[in-house]
Amino acid sequence: MQSQEYRPTDKRIKCEVLVVGAGPAGMMAGISAARRGSNVIIIEQKDIPGKKIYATGNGRCNFTNQYYDSRVFRGEDPQFGYDAYKRFDKDALMGFMRELGVTCRDINGYIYPYNEQARSVANALLYECKRLGVDIRCSQKALDITQEKDNKINNDGGFLVTTDKEVYSCEKIIIAAGGKASPTHGSDGNLNKVIRKLGHEIILQDPALVPLRFADSSLSLLAGVRCKCRTVLVIDGSETDNESGEIIFNNDNISGIPIMQMSRYAVRALSRGSKVWLELDLVPDMGDADLKGFLETSVEKRLGIFEALGLVVNDKIAKYICDRIKDTDELIHFLKHFKVEIIGDCGFNKAQVTAGGVNVSQITKDMESKIIRRLFFAGEILDIDGTCGGYNLQWAFTSGYLAGMAASVKQ
Ligand SMILES: Cc1cc2nc3c(=O)[nH]c(=O)nc-3n(C[C@H](O)[C@H](O)[C@H](O)COP(=O)(O)OP(=O)(O)OC[C@H]3O[C@@H](n4cnc5c(N)ncnc54)[C@H](O)[C@@H]3O)c2cc1C
Repeated sequence: MQSQEYRPTDKRIKCEVLVVGAGPAGMMAGISAARRGSNVIIIEQKDIPGKKIYATGNGRCNFTNQYYDSRVFRGEDPQFGYDAYKRFDKDALMGFMRELGVTCRDINGYIYPYNEQARSVANALLYECKRLGVDIRCSQKALDITQEKDNKINNDGGFLVTTDKEVYSCEKIIIAAGGKASPTHGSDGNLNKVIRKLGHEIILQDPALVPLRFADSSLSLLAGVRCKCRTVLVIDGSETDNESGEIIFNNDNISGIPIMQMSRYAVRALSRGSKVWLELDLVPDMGDADLKGFLETSVEKRLGIFEALGLVVNDKIAKYICDRIKDTDELIHFLKHFKVEIIGDCGFNKAQVTAGGVNVSQITKDMESKIIRRLFFAGEILDIDGTCGGYNLQWAFTSGYLAGMAASVKQ
């Protein structure tokens, strides 16, 4: 029996701007290019556009934040992200959303769509693409990108893009295929080889905003415990970062916003072969002396040490400590400096974002390649990642906007 495999046809579909990936960066790039009159096609390998958007912010889509400083973007050159942000910032993004009918809700500085439903952001982008005639072609995977004219002298040609269904010929291309985080939503680094072939360096990609796995299997006894603590990240004996907030113990890992925020540095350090520890202050609101006084008074009142501990920490933690330590000073030291050795992360499947990506030193401020003219990048595929709080979507929208604007300039 003959194979039914679909083969690319020889017929080339032409457009001015071709975008690979219909995530937030790709759709924004398509919108900003089409608003300036470009004829745009977006290729998306998944069956629907913007699949990841639905999962963001626990389905609520935290797309930006009221607070910005130079620490919210990370990468080899975080300033690149911040400089771009200044050209399309939170106010510009909120204005853009309002224009599309998405009113914003501010929850402690974190910005969501007013109805707190991610689908309204995905739909708004999709409707705007439709209104502008942006042709989004789903269930189609870009496999290869070549320069149409191999004119090394003035680099003047367009591009040929081969997908598993068609061959496209375009004047400009914007690669917005995401990083490697959460591959079920479509981003898995499948274009890395092609990008390297085009002459671009890809900085090592690691999971970021990801739970961290601990070495000591006895900590699985604490699975399910949530506690508010101060967490210090210690790399090769030196305090590197600290965060406060709720952490969650799971069977073989710790999660929670403070852990996610610091995970990038922990994962990078483990890749380098460093020793990584988390030091938890489980009773951050009391100093050592106050805590000692409190425990001694409670014991004097004939509370057992387990009951006394249970007044300041979760019962499972109290039991874990009582089973191991009897001396009060040791016990206080344990509560204030609970050391957890970290041996890994929970991988790209559980990560919200990717650290690393296309080296931004090879990219102009308009997101254009410095190596090949008319080739642009946008979003998580670049070596910029943000902390929790809406900064990754802001980056996707900012870089998508700038790439689309620049790609639509007629040459
Ligand atoms: C669970 C979860 C929650 C999150 N919550 C938030 C949040 O609340 N706030 C926030 O700021 N950030 C959040 N993020 C991060 C944020 O979603 C991403 O940083 C952002 O979506 C990146 O946008 P992007 O367009 O660059 O890439 P993506 O959204 O990954 O989109 C890339 C697209 O390219 C497509 N693609 C890839 N390769 C090909 C190919 N060869 N051919 C055709 N198409 C291709 C993919 O299918 C995908 O649709 C979250 C992430 C996850 C996983």
